Amino acid sequence: MSEKIKKILNQEEFSKSDLIELMKIDNKEDLILLFKKAYDVKSKYVGRKVYYRGLIEISNQCIKNCKYCGIRRDNHKVERFAMSKDEIMQSVKWIYDNNYASLALQAGERQDEEFIAFIEDLLKEIKILSNGKLGVTLSLGEQTKETYKRWFDAGAHRYLLRIESTNLNIYNHLHPMDNKHTFEVRKKCLEYLREVGYQVGTGVMIGLPNQTEEDLVNDILFYKQMDIDMIGMGPYILHKDTPLGQEWENIVINEKKRVELGLKMIAITRIFLKDVNIAATTALQGLDPQGREKGLLAGANILMPTATALEHKGKYLLYDNKPGIKDSVEKAKEIMDNNVKAIGDEIVYGKWGDSLHFKNKH
Ligand code: SF4
Repeated sequence: MSEKIKKILNQEEFSKSDLIELMKIDNKEDLILLFKKAYDVKSKYVGRKVYYRGLIEISNQCIKNCKYCGIRRDNHKVERFAMSKDEIMQSVKWIYDNNYASLALQAGERQDEEFIAFIEDLLKEIKILSNGKLGVTLSLGEQTKETYKRWFDAGAHRYLLRIESTNLNIYNHLHPMDNKHTFEVRKKCLEYLREVGYQVGTGVMIGLPNQTEEDLVNDILFYKQMDIDMIGMGPYILHKDTPLGQEWENIVINEKKRVELGLKMIAITRIFLKDVNIAATTALQGLDPQGREKGLLAGANILMPTATALEHKGKYLLYDNKPGIKDSVEKAKEIMDNNVKAIGDEIVYGKWGDSLHFKNKH
């Protein structure tokens, strides 16, 4: 065990070079120490508690063409779907009846008025159905400030918009530069969300070719600089029908290393930012059957069991081998309950589980 790592972990404040040292940890003993420290920080600042967000993937129609994403506009192999309001409300009711207290609506990006109004109406119905008791997170991409405000006024109060990478070369390689798909626009959207009043979430992809430890630390520093409340990040997983899935097939680092990096990102983010909400994402589980539990043990406190209708689940594939696409919502819940119980964390039902970081600021 290196004395240097031990010394860094005993500090309360961390410099960039400290964080890079932690990100470079590659031996088992130091990794155990890092995860233990992160779990201690989680216990102290947010408790050994896990909150659920019932995830409904409402549509895979998307105007964007991200080069890593399985439902990108130009992937014509995808069978497109959009759930009807009735279908979505059935999932909402299930989430409400099962006392999750929070749900997340996710979809490919659309910016047309029909979609904006559809979401606005949907949010109002969700609030009516649950008597205002269901907390709602949106993950619906880049929008105008006015749209974010309309959805906020209709009842959403958290928004997840991943920055994907703060290294501009990587960002530009991940995204086609048409459609104003720039880093600046994405960052501006995060600022709009903050100004409108949302709890703001972002995150990155981890383990990309040419991504360095320093890049990942810069991502964490970006979370701090943007005063982010919630983090959803996970290891990169290839999708074979995408430009980057094909370009990177033979050069991406192995799955075990990507999981390890993903866990280190959770742990270092927890140690550095302390009271934010951090999700153990499905992508972790996609590369490691114990990924979610390991994520919780590395400092995560949010899980997103899917409540998407079974018939659509297999069409919402941002990457290959997504786990759980054949599981019913009941099965997804049972698996997740068992995962959490296995490590001794408490599942908190009936409470929103808002970001304490956000609450502490206000
Ligand atoms: S990552 Fe999001 S915005 Fe980009 S293509 Fe996929 S669904 Fe669309």
